[in-house]
Amino acid sequence: MSYEDKNLTCVECGADFIFSAQEQEFFAAKGLTNEPKRCPDCRQARRQQRRELHRVAKRHRYPLSLEKDDPCTAASATLKSGVNPSI
Ligand SMILES: [Zn+2]
Repeated sequence: MSYEDKNLTCVECGADFIFSAQEQEFFAAKGLTNEPKRCPDCRQARRQQRRELHRVAKRHRYPLSLEKDDPCTAASATLKSGVNPSI
């Protein structure tokens, strides 16, 4: 199967970005069927943010009631309410 570069729009900042054939192949190889929703910039920013949130979550020790949730999801929902926390 051959891939072609695709133009996608970032759900985060609205910028157009290329989902390259190479990336599509990489995604397929990993068994990922969903197209990326965010441009590379936003993806990177998000990764850094999640790392930061993990650090903060660890430091502050969330109360038990929150621990059944992914600390990341809980923290990002708190910090950025209204934003879909799913990837
Ligand atoms: Zn973006």
